[in-house]
Amino acid sequence: MSALERIQELRTLLDQANYDYYVEAMPTMSDTEYDRLLTELSSLEVNHPEFHDSSSPTHRVGGEPVEGFQTVPHAVPMQSIDNTYTVSDLRQWYAKLGGDIQCTCDPKIDGVAISLRYENGLLVSGVTRGDGERGDDVTAQVKTIRSIPLKLRDRAPELLEVRGEIFMPNKSFDAINAQREIDGEQLFANARNATAGTLKSLDPKKVAQRKLAFLAHGKGEILWKNAPSYWSTFTDALRGFGIPVSDKVSTCGSADEIVKTVEKFESQRQSMGFAIDGMVIRVNSFAKQEELGGTSKSPRWCIAFKYPAEQGLTKLSDVNWQVGKNGTLTPRATMEPIQLAGTTVQHATLHNIDEIHRKDIRVGDTVVVEKAGEIIPQVVGVKESNRDGSQVPIQPPECCPVCNGPVEKEGPKLYCVNPECPAQFREKVKWFAARDQMNIDGLGEKVVDQLVDAGLVKHFADLYKLTADDLVPLEGFAQKSAEALIDAIENSKTRGFARVLSGVGIRLIGRATSKVVAKKYANFDLLKQATVEDFVELDDFGLITAETLHKAIHSSQGGELFSRLADVGVQLKSSETVSVDPAFTDKVIVITGTLEQWERKQLTEELEQRGAKVTGSVSSKTDIVIAGEKAGSKLKKAQDLGVEVWDEAQLMASLSG
Ligand SMILES: [Zn+2]
Repeated sequence: MSALERIQELRTLLDQANYDYYVEAMPTMSDTEYDRLLTELSSLEVNHPEFHDSSSPTHRVGGEPVEGFQTVPHAVPMQSIDNTYTVSDLRQWYAKLGGDIQCTCDPKIDGVAISLRYENGLLVSGVTRGDGERGDDVTAQVKTIRSIPLKLRDRAPELLEVRGEIFMPNKSFDAINAQREIDGEQLFANARNATAGTLKSLDPKKVAQRKLAFLAHGKGEILWKNAPSYWSTFTDALRGFGIPVSDKVSTCGSADEIVKTVEKFESQRQSMGFAIDGMVIRVNSFAKQEELGGTSKSPRWCIAFKYPAEQGLTKLSDVNWQVGKNGTLTPRATMEPIQLAGTTVQHATLHNIDEIHRKDIRVGDTVVVEKAGEIIPQVVGVKESNRDGSQVPIQPPECCPVCNGPVEKEGPKLYCVNPECPAQFREKVKWFAARDQMNIDGLGEKVVDQLVDAGLVKHFADLYKLTADDLVPLEGFAQKSAEALIDAIENSKTRGFARVLSGVGIRLIGRATSKVVAKKYANFDLLKQATVEDFVELDDFGLITAETLHKAIHSSQGGELFSRLADVGVQLKSSETVSVDPAFTDKVIVITGTLEQWERKQLTEELEQRGAKVTGSVSSKTDIVIAGEKAGSKLKKAQDLGVEVWDEAQLMASLSG
């Protein structure tokens, strides 16, 4: 089989697998198999750029980060739908249609509305609703979503704009929030926020990891001979093109039927696997829709019936304060178990002490708990009439519940400020080992818990004193895996100053800030000589950040922390100082196209270490453009501006020279 034949075969196989999974809901290929074939296709395409195809499934892994979103107009405005919350309002709406008009009911997904434009069967753009007239162009992000076909099946119309909802399945949502909790990041309140946040990511690769999904529910501009005359036949046609549509659509011919459908679905919605907050009822005939028209805001032929957020009453039995990585103390309610939105709820967040006092929540109170969509359950209020005098007001803890260390209040938040707090420390080690910090493969949450519990790790530096013999007795370890982890820990010693700084988890000093610091101060000794005033001068530093950093490195614990790390051989100097290279120092460089020997991220790091500044767009300030295979508009712009262009060979020569 020739390379071209195999490429075509793989593209067909992968497209078919997506179709089977997302449109037919009948998976025919395991994820592992899918990834294996995708990798094969990707390497074939790299070796054969002449067979490039912009609708190849390899484009789903996400291209290069975009610099911002362009706002573009919608050819046909994306109107929003009126909401109704009661059955009587729903009946009134139907009565206004005049007569027994056929309508369809389909689940209203709590996601982000999107308009997809297909020209001659090829996906050319994806634009968010925005203000209805103009939205953000998120094409690069949308292409990573596997349920959105890049190329339509069958004979596609000349122009087809499909509107629908991008959403995050519950499973992905839970996994992402679990990870954010470990990373000490703020949790997404619900799946819709998480979806919107993901689509706003400028890096399509991140979007690809989030496993978003899509279901179509409407149309925009179309050029289509013999286009369907009904919404139900339109969605059938979409399915034929390989565009996923909900399989929970009912057709109703009377108000009674609609009400029955809507009421019946309320109990089913919890088992859908993604957030449904209502049902959309719309007139089936496009001609009738046209006739009914709409207001400037919303159409008359369509309405959303919203289900109420599920609330329940239960008794608040206890409040405990959980200690996070930076010492944040978060109040968590324990309640008598209650069934809400299909799950048993026993815990809820109370956010912070100011919220508790604002709502006057007391232990022993009957509280109103709410779980809307997939929102983390929260206590929204108190039934004061149920009080009998035995309720106890909630006091902020005077000391840390784990270490008895001192607690300080900053805004509405409380912190344990003991840097040796074991609860904080456990979270900090998880953070230290994570991919974006010291990147210690195999040092996950469970291993950290065991190491800290066994007393093997009391300081970060203790990690570097571990031996395979220490690990073997722990759960999940054999000799080989123990040795692998010891190697991984050893390898992390040379990650560089910036990663160590962000790894030790000084409050307010995250990844980006650490990079700024390490760039200015090449090693720990230089950093120690700096004053608060010096820090204020740094990019993105305010007085509080400057003071926090200064305090952290000059405290006795801080000093000890770094000297212990230095003692065990962890490098406390910027890798930049090791290898600054006059050929690259202060050069503004743009990388474009595909390089054979370099991942873009690696190359960026390498160039930055040598003192270059890598940017995303070519301008008159650009010194060098490194152009790989399939370099497009950036290469052209560089040539137009007369910017120096290097190919990969020249890059390799300069790096080794
Ligand atoms: Zn503590």
